[in-house]
Order: sequence, then structure tokens, then C-alpha cells
Amino acid sequence: MSGLETLPPLREVIARHGLAARKALGQNFILDLNLTRRIARTAGDLSASDVFEVGPGPGGLTRGLLMEGARHVLAVEKDARCLPALEEIAAAAPGRLTVLQGDALQVDPTRHLAPPIRVVANLPYNVGTELLVRWLTPADWPPWWASLTLMFQKEVAERIVARPGGRAYGRLAVLAQWRAEARIAFALPPAAFTPPPRVSSAVVHIEALGAPRHPAPAATLQRVTAAAFNQRRKMLRTALKGLAPDIETHLEAAGIDPTARAETVSIERFCALARSLEE
Ligand code: SAM
Repeated sequence: MSGLETLPPLREVIARHGLAARKALGQNFILDLNLTRRIARTAGDLSASDVFEVGPGPGGLTRGLLMEGARHVLAVEKDARCLPALEEIAAAAPGRLTVLQGDALQVDPTRHLAPPIRVVANLPYNVGTELLVRWLTPADWPPWWASLTLMFQKEVAERIVARPGGRAYGRLAVLAQWRAEARIAFALPPAAFTPPPRVSSAVVHIEALGAPRHPAPAATLQRVTAAAFNQRRKMLRTALKGLAPDIETHLEAAGIDPTARAETVSIERFCALARSLEE
């Protein structure tokens, strides 16, 4: 039996280290190792990957990642109370787990890990969306990460994988699907967490493509989608008027009806519009 399998149950670890969940840190822990191993397997073949884990808490998902064979895990946790529990896991998997205390938003994982790097996290929801947008929007592609396997509120997960034509389709869908493949792996009821959150959750898996599906300047595409979906009920010629005085000409050049609304426009057309505006 490996050292990881002899670690005590998470409930015991939490009691021993006094890790009562703190709402301000978005702490909803997963204590079922079958479930954390399932999330780890969703990330792909870990035996050939390094993993960046954000917000390990008492380490349920960290254990799952190591048990599923991750080459090396970098775990960044803001709550110093969790560090002793995480160090116990590091001791049970010698040389395979690096724990840092701090804000994941401030850490550069490429300083600690070798490619391919897979990001896996059960994040607080507010931090999750901010990190996702940051990870999806570098100027150059492919990014430093090979895949992102992340827990979201179910409604946000649906927005990430949405197709044009519905209310869920917006900026997140365009950013996630323009240069990556995004799918919902599975949904989880509130009872999967301790304490249970108010809403259902879902694990989203995103694989970076080698190149964007359609060429487009990243910064302009972001500006266009932000403006278009900020006023999603308005016609595009009105919602985008601030971007260029001759916006109607650009919309037509991109094959978009200037009276259409943002949620009906495909990613390909948004990319064409960003290219036209850039010229
Ligand atoms: N991964 C653990 C699990 O599945 O049981 C904990 C999940 S809990 C939803 C989120 C964790 O992220 C908490 O442990 C919290 O302290 C940590 N956290 C919150 N904000 C963070 C930040 N900015 N950087 C790093 N960790 C953070």
C-alpha cells in the first residue's frame, strides 16, 4: 500500500487540525475520495503531466490527483490553517507535492512545473471565474496549460459550454470555445460538499487547441464580446457603436446583420468582426 492510502479519513484530518469551513474563503470541501479521484481522472492522463491545483483546502482533491498518478502537484492555498494537513500528504508522496501558501492569483505556476501542465481545482466560485478568464485570454496561443478541469456553479458551467442562440451564450462561451474544447464532465448535487453550498455544481473540462479555430486578435475579440454582451438585448450596431464610427460597415464585412443581437452571432463571425476592426 502506498503512503497515500494509509492517510486518515478527511473528516478526521479536519477535526484534528480544526479546519471548520470558512464562508469568506468559499470553503466547501469534498471529503469523498472516490469523487476527488473521479475529478482527477477527468483531467486526463496525469502520469505524464504536472498539475497546478488551486485551493486544496484539507487536500481531498490533492490526494485524488496523487492517487491517480500525477507526476508533480503544485498546490496553492490561501488559508494557512490547511498547511499542516497538506504537509502530511506531501510526506506520504515524497517529492511529488509542493505546497505554497498564498493567493493563487499571484502565483506563476510555470516557475514550478514542467509541461504539459494540467490545472485542476475546486475553487471558490468568485475566484474561479476570474482565473478562468485570465487563463483563457493570453495574447499568444497555445497557453502554458494543456487543460483546465474546474468546478463551477452549474449555471456558470452551462455558460462556458453554451452554443449561440440561447441566454447562456455570452462572453465566457466565446472565450472558452474560440481556442479550446469545453465540455461539462458531470454535475454534482450540493450534498457532495461539506458544508453543502446553496446551488448545484458541475465539473468543466477544457482542452487547449493547438491553434485558434479562427484567426483573431485576442484583445480586440475580448473588447468586441464584452461590448456586445454587456448590452445583449440591443442590436449590435447600437451595442458596438463605441468601438468604431463605421461599425455597420465592419459588421457587414464580417457577415453580421447590424440589427442582429449578440447571442445569435457565432464565434466565427465574432472573430471576423475583430479582424475587420483591427485592419
Ligand atoms: N479543494 C478542496 C476540496 O475540494 O475539498 C477545497 C475546496 S474550497 C471550495 C476552495 C478552497 O480555495 C478553500 O480551501 C479556500 O481557502 C481556497 N482559496 C480561496 N481563495 C483562494 C485564493 N485566492 N488562492 C488560493 N486558494 C484560495
